[in-house]
Amino acid sequence: MSKGNDVPSYSLDHVRNIGIAAHVDAGKTTLTERVLFYTGASHRMGGVDEGNTRTDWMAEEQEHGITITSAVTQCPWKDHLIQIVDTPGHVDFTIEVERSMRVLDGAIIVMDGVRGVEPQTETVWRQANKFDVPRAVFVNKMDKPGADFLRALETITKRFGDETVPVCVPLADSHFVLHLIEQKVYEFSGDKGKDVTVRDPVGTEIDDMAEWRETMLLALGNHIEEIGDKVLMEEEISEDEAWNAVRVLTQNGTIRPAFGGSALRNWGVQPVLDAVIKIMPNPTEVEPSVGRNPEGEEVLVEMNDDEPLVALAFKVQLFDGRRHVFVRVYRGILEAGMMIKVAGSEVTERVARVFEVDADKKTRLNRATSGQIVLLAGLRFVTTGDTICDVEHPVLLERIDARQPVLGLAIEPESSKDEEKLVEVLKKVTQEDPTLRYEEDPETGQRILSGMGELHLQINFERMQREFGLKLRAGRPRVVHRETVGGSATHTGGVDRVIEAGNHRIELKAQVTVKVEPLPRGGGVEVVCSPTWNPSDFTPAVDQVEAVESGTNDALSGGPIEGAALEDVRVEVLSVETFGSASSVQALRIAAASAVRDALKAAGGRILQPVMKVEVVVPDESTGGVLGDLQARGANILGHEASAGNTTISAEAGLSSLIGYMTDLRSSTKGRGQFVMEFDRFDVL
Ligand code: GDP
Repeated sequence: MSKGNDVPSYSLDHVRNIGIAAHVDAGKTTLTERVLFYTGASHRMGGVDEGNTRTDWMAEEQEHGITITSAVTQCPWKDHLIQIVDTPGHVDFTIEVERSMRVLDGAIIVMDGVRGVEPQTETVWRQANKFDVPRAVFVNKMDKPGADFLRALETITKRFGDETVPVCVPLADSHFVLHLIEQKVYEFSGDKGKDVTVRDPVGTEIDDMAEWRETMLLALGNHIEEIGDKVLMEEEISEDEAWNAVRVLTQNGTIRPAFGGSALRNWGVQPVLDAVIKIMPNPTEVEPSVGRNPEGEEVLVEMNDDEPLVALAFKVQLFDGRRHVFVRVYRGILEAGMMIKVAGSEVTERVARVFEVDADKKTRLNRATSGQIVLLAGLRFVTTGDTICDVEHPVLLERIDARQPVLGLAIEPESSKDEEKLVEVLKKVTQEDPTLRYEEDPETGQRILSGMGELHLQINFERMQREFGLKLRAGRPRVVHRETVGGSATHTGGVDRVIEAGNHRIELKAQVTVKVEPLPRGGGVEVVCSPTWNPSDFTPAVDQVEAVESGTNDALSGGPIEGAALEDVRVEVLSVETFGSASSVQALRIAAASAVRDALKAAGGRILQPVMKVEVVVPDESTGGVLGDLQARGANILGHEASAGNTTISAEAGLSSLIGYMTDLRSSTKGRGQFVMEFDRFDVL
């Protein structure tokens, strides 16, 4: 007998899968907390400042005051289920934001009402663009001096060219909201503002309402003719008409409806929830995804429970120490106990259990239908970004790009008896997060965990200690290098050796001529191996050809300076000189490797370092000092722009000169400077 439920708690047309994304500190966590409270999802209100919020349930997140994991939280609201897929706030974790964007149907972008668009607002905005996610804007912190709803919205138009349309306007100094569609005033009272009073506007509110509503209707009328005509004729536009217009234009990405208030002051949050239900798509309304079958042909994956399963794994997470995988089902039915295949691989495995998830609480289901987001237990191999599908009908959905780690940290246990456990834990954390990598330095034997940035590594380092009870030591962060060559070289090298062992005498003799040359940045590694063989009457056997190829690849595993992975190099094997039986497979492999190594040396090695794109936002009075400091770090300043008391500086700089920059910037700007960076390329510095 099965113990799970057959039906999800809500029919899909009553479900909204949304994300809340923001620049760090804009108030995303506080807003999420209010949403959980109003929807009854959390009986106890957590405040970020006390560090006991509900979606931030990993201890590290509380300590750093940021959100990292993409937990899914269920928020029942007015006969609907709003599922919040939590998106991380720090740029080191952008890959996690991207993963969650992929499975969202809508997003709320939270902005600081004083600061407007900030560097990371821009990052999440771009990611939402990548997956065409419909979005609404919540201008938060309207209680702060200097907050300005319109100006904040203008920063969106200026930075992204997107059109924002006000729907709920926070009335300064009142903690009221003008609802422009309903033409009502919303007031919030009671515990954490949970009691909402809706009333007609009075006094000056009447004029304010009329003015703002006209702005909204004119904007809608620009895109929808019937509304435009009615506005011109001064005819009444019904609530349904206005909602419908906002819904259509939001879903097709024409407008970004805007709301405002203050999460912390319990001002203006409930109208956003109402709007999510009214305007965001339900999972059945979303455009079909495009996948590829094993023949490489495009397949349109339409939601249909009768067709073979296609689902996307977007997060691997440990629950109670066990590996679990979050998936969104795009087509077909996913049943507990069924065998699935990882598209594009030979991996097949069994789904032991299917759960509906609510933050850290799970409820067992027998099956999940298309459109649902569920948690699976029992999968050992499926990892983030994998498409899981019916064993007989594999379809590969577009993979979420994984990025190259750029910073490494040597990690060792304080006590040598923990060596084995450390290796196990390193394997676990790297499996959960494909932007983390773990390797052993072949020379020093050190274990190096590499990731996307300082905070990324620091958080995982702390987590390994806390969650797995290890006591660890870490070295200084080290920038990951690559190597390339500075020029071209053609070189002949080889082997000419006699090995005597007992009464055996083995002769190894072969000569290989190779040419190496640099490729432009981003050129990768190119190997051409179709040499002429000498003497001219010699015809190589298949394993001899392969031996030359493997020898070449052996030598390419590391560059001539530090043995770092090679990049932007082309190698061509020009000719091979053979000497009868002395040119064995073994001899050819050694000869090729030696020739390539010497050719790389002759061409001159060059170290490539990660170059980051950097954006720094500082109060105007600090601009001079911060620019000077960036230049002293060898940064190339690409531009700067002042707006509303802040200057945004764009630059690029080597990662090595940016280690510790966050701390230095904070202290030189009294904590007001902000900074994000993103890997751009490996380059010579
Ligand atoms: P997140 O990094 O985007 O998740 O932001 P948090 O929710 O952690 O908030 C960052 C800081 O801003 C915290 O100290 C909050 O108390 C504060 N905060 C959040 N919302 C508001 C608001 O509406 N008004 C004010 N004045 N402060 C807020």
